[in-house]
Parts: sequence; structure tokens; C-alpha cells
Amino acid sequence: MSGYKKTTEKAYEILRDYDFNNLTIGTICSHSFLQISKGAKDEGFKRLGIVVRNTPDKKKKFYTQAFRETIPEHIIEVDYDKEILKPYIQEKLIEKNTIILAHGSFVERVGGKELLNKFYVPTFGNKRALPWESDRKLERKWLEGAGLSMPKKIKSPDEIKGPAIVKKHGAKGGKDFFVVKTREEFYKRKGGKKYDPENFDIQEFVMGTRYYPHFFYSPIQKNSPKNIKGYEAGKGILLLMSIDRRDETTIDEVQRLGSIRELEEANIHPTFVVTGNVPIVMRESLLPDLFCKAEAVVEKAEELFGGIPGAFCLEGVEDENLNYITFEISARIVAGTNPYIRGSPYSDFIAKNLSTGRRIAQEIKFANKKFKKENNFDIWKEIIS
Ligand code: ATP
Repeated sequence: MSGYKKTTEKAYEILRDYDFNNLTIGTICSHSFLQISKGAKDEGFKRLGIVVRNTPDKKKKFYTQAFRETIPEHIIEVDYDKEILKPYIQEKLIEKNTIILAHGSFVERVGGKELLNKFYVPTFGNKRALPWESDRKLERKWLEGAGLSMPKKIKSPDEIKGPAIVKKHGAKGGKDFFVVKTREEFYKRKGGKKYDPENFDIQEFVMGTRYYPHFFYSPIQKNSPKNIKGYEAGKGILLLMSIDRRDETTIDEVQRLGSIRELEEANIHPTFVVTGNVPIVMRESLLPDLFCKAEAVVEKAEELFGGIPGAFCLEGVEDENLNYITFEISARIVAGTNPYIRGSPYSDFIAKNLSTGRRIAQEIKFANKKFKKENNFDIWKEIIS
């Protein structure tokens, strides 16, 4: 049996024994914890936060004192992130009837492979999406298979004929990415190691404006003629929760020091490390196309690996011909949803005070209600793995 099957079947066995009147939503205290916690509270769940003990930034103090409405009822302390995988920690989570929300930082710290193979606490979403979003080849197969345009892949440094972004494998959050315009620049920037195509993803640097639209896909809520809940996609409905643009240092402000050419001459190169998120809306006439793309991504995910229930983000650039070029998908809640704890210009059209964290809690609540009413466990299999 594959690792994924083993952990997911075990997760279902565990979930069957949960006290469904006393569910807890839990995750690592970081990333989007504040909105997840507030959203869970607003929907009547207990909250559980996992913190690493004695960090210099006093994480435990921050998450148990800074913002009253977000303080979790339960805290589990670990000595290091991957300790979460140890059976004695997983058992503590299970004791509290916890459903885990694996946000971006959770996946990064605990590890996608480890989550698939070793983590059996019931987890919101489909863990099978993890390799598809983290492996750039699989990601391209998924998105291009759905008909989306992606930045042109540059097969070798010899083919660099204009601005290109080089993504080193294993580099995260834009760290260690670099931009080059020629083959020579590439070799100068890449450092000592021999060029191995497996270690670098070189792609066209798409010129345009960046957008990070946050979607939510529910496979379990459906429209009826009397009640339209959302845009039909896959087995259920698709919602646009919000859009942000990332603040990336140093690329976004580097021009304050001088022109890019001047800086490069001084051997100063821009980086793409995320430091914040700025709320934004897109020109309304661009939204229908964006929905078509998100719908196709949802449907392709169902065909390839059983779907992407929950939050996802289609990160891309709108070019001057108004083509949306997607450079990345995140199949989970992204931190760009954080400016919208009390809703966004889009989620306000769905319900008041609706953050993505809260919408996830609503999905769990909806599944629980339906499960209790119909006594059919299958509904959980649509949103938990
Ligand atoms: P995360 O997992 O945090 O989303 P990542 O490490 O996977 O980040 P990307 O999202 O692929 O990295 O890229 C980081 C940043 O680099 C983007 O936010 C964007 O500003 C820029 N970027 C990436 N690809 C392109 C591209 N093809 N053209 C222009 N800019 C790009």
C-alpha cells in the first residue's frame, strides 16, 4: 500500500472515532494562524495551536496573548517542527479530535513527503495534491493540461534570449531565485557548481502585473435551482475569496537605490523574498476568464489526483495583451488571504466577515452536519485525507 493510502485510510479510521460534537481545528502557530483561529471560533470550533518551545521571538507568548480573539484553547509544544510527525504528538492531536489545516508554513516545515507518508491525523484537503504543486514538472503537467498559459520553459542556458527567471530547486518563497538576460549572465550568477538542468528551472520572466487570486473549491456544496451558492465547477462550487499582491524584497523597492543597470554594475541583484501582502482587485472584465481558468484547474485536479477541496491560489501575471500567465499554484490557504480577516471586496458579495480561514471552518461544519443527518461517512472523504 502506498504511503498516502496508508496514512489516509488510517486518518479515516481515526476520524470515525472522533467526538463529532467536540471537533478542534488545529495548525502550527504561524503563516495564517490568526485568521484560521478566528474563523474557527466564529464557527463554533475549539482551536489548537502547535508551537516550537522557547523560540527567541517568544512565539508561544505572542500566540497566547497578542490577539484575544485568536488565542487557541489548546497549545501543543514541540522541540522542533518535524516532531509533529512523532506518534506521541499525533496521538495528542487525535485526543482533542483535531482536524489539521496544513497551511503553507506547515507543509514547508513538516515536509510534503513526510505529510503524505507519516502523518495520519485527519487533515483538511487532499494530501495527494502536495507532490503536484511542489514538483515543477508535475505542476506544469497539471496547469498546462488544464489549458492554462505558463511562462515559456527555457530548456538550456544557451536558449536565454531575454529576461529569464531562474528558480533553483529547493529554493523557497522566491529565495535564491535570480533574473538574467543572457547566457553569460546565467553562468556568472549560478555559482561554482556544474550546470545540471535537474537543479534549475529557467523560465521566461513574464512582463506584466502580478496577481495572487485566492479561490475556494467546495466539492460538497452544490447549487440548486432555488439556491445558487457559487460558480459551478467540478463536483461542486468555486468561490473567489480575495486577491493580493505580494511585497517582495528586494525586487519591489530596489529601484529606490538606482536603476537596475546601475545596481547590477555594482553587483546588487534583486531577490523575491515575501515580506508582506497588499490587498488588490482586478479589472472586472478580467474576472470571467480567471474563473474559467480556476474551473479548468479544479476539473483537471479531479482527473489527475482526486481533486483540490479547499483553498488554492493561481499566482500569475496579466500581460499587456490581457493574457493571464500562471507561474505557480498553491493548493492550500496562502498568507495573501491575511489582509482579509473581515472579508474582501469579493467575499463581501458572498457573506459578511468571511475570511478564507472562516470559509474552511464552514466547510468542515457543513460536512459534519450532513454526516450527522445522513449518517454517511463518505462526505468526509471528499474534504479530508
Ligand atoms: P511560494 O511557494 O511562496 O509561492 P515559490 O518559492 O514557489 O513561492 P514562485 O511563486 O514561483 O516561488 O515565485 C516567486 C516570485 O517570483 C513570484 O511571486 C513573482 O514575483 C516572481 N516570479 C516567479 N515566476 C515568474 C515569472 N515567470 N515571471 C515573472 N515573475 C516571476
